[in-house]
Amino acid sequence: MNIAKNGNLKLAIQKKGRLTEKSIELLKLCGIDVDHYSERLVVPAENFPLEVLFLRDDDIPEYVQDGVADIGIVGENVVVSKNAKTTVVEKLGFGKCTLMMAAPDYVHLKTIQDIDGKVIATTYPRIVQDFLDKNNLKAKLIELSGSVEIAPALGVADIICDIVSTGNTLMMNKLKKSFPIFDSQAVLISSASNELKKEKAKILQDLQSRIRSVLLARRSKYLMMNVPIGSLEKVKKAIPSLSSPTVVPLADQHYVAVHAVIPSNYLWKIADSLKELGATGILLLPIENLIP
Ligand code: ATP
Ligand code: MG
Repeated sequence: MNIAKNGNLKLAIQKKGRLTEKSIELLKLCGIDVDHYSERLVVPAENFPLEVLFLRDDDIPEYVQDGVADIGIVGENVVVSKNAKTTVVEKLGFGKCTLMMAAPDYVHLKTIQDIDGKVIATTYPRIVQDFLDKNNLKAKLIELSGSVEIAPALGVADIICDIVSTGNTLMMNKLKKSFPIFDSQAVLISSASNELKKEKAKILQDLQSRIRSVLLARRSKYLMMNVPIGSLEKVKKAIPSLSSPTVVPLADQHYVAVHAVIPSNYLWKIADSLKELGATGILLLPIENLIP
């Protein structure tokens, strides 16, 4: 079957790399199952009108721009550096990383001005050039496709600009982090010029609303506790509930159970006041999906 012709939405994801598992997991949480353990490069989803194209991440922006794939999941760093005509439809909250300047000990790099006149090795010349332009700096850029960290030791560059997470690779190459210049995360992109046909646009809308529910659920937690009936109003006020809390009577008439959806991490801000108000059995649970 020619997949270019069937009416399924075509989603490009990274074939093998840091974003692969997380992309598949996101689809799974959206109720969409994709078998990615075969060697096939195009796999139809089992229960959604979607074809998944497994590609190198560098190729995804251009394929999406040209309509070979309708949408794609890729790092924002790659989207910006490829400069393809694509639109970010959704930020996905995983694959977070930072593009950083780093230098060997013997290079003075204390302020941004120290970058002026340096030779910088990087895989992302467009992002670095944008940063230089914004800060009125001039530097020579050397584009490398990998092993950027070794460039100063080889005498090819003074400093580097690369993605840094733990900093271990930098340390092993005797480089020190300095300025962060770009924060990236995985994003869902669509073509900025090719408009989708009505049927496909509908499938994309469905997919997007599922993704939004999953992201909302990730940012939320389900709070459960027992509260003395006399404190109920004060407890309700303390909870920054995404929906109004559910109050359930208990066998002990002096207490009620209160359930609420709250933003993740918020419990720590209110835990003490909840305890002061006599709340007991405070329980915080993860939410898999949340349909607003
Ligand atoms: P491909 O073979 O598809 O070209 P790649 O080697 O270019 O893969 P990966 O190393 O798998 O790419 O990284 C994919 C994306 O993951 C990066 O472009 C970036 O957006 C994101 N990412 C998150 N954390 C890191 C990290 N610590 N180092 C590198 N990339 C990271
Ligand atoms: Mg790549």
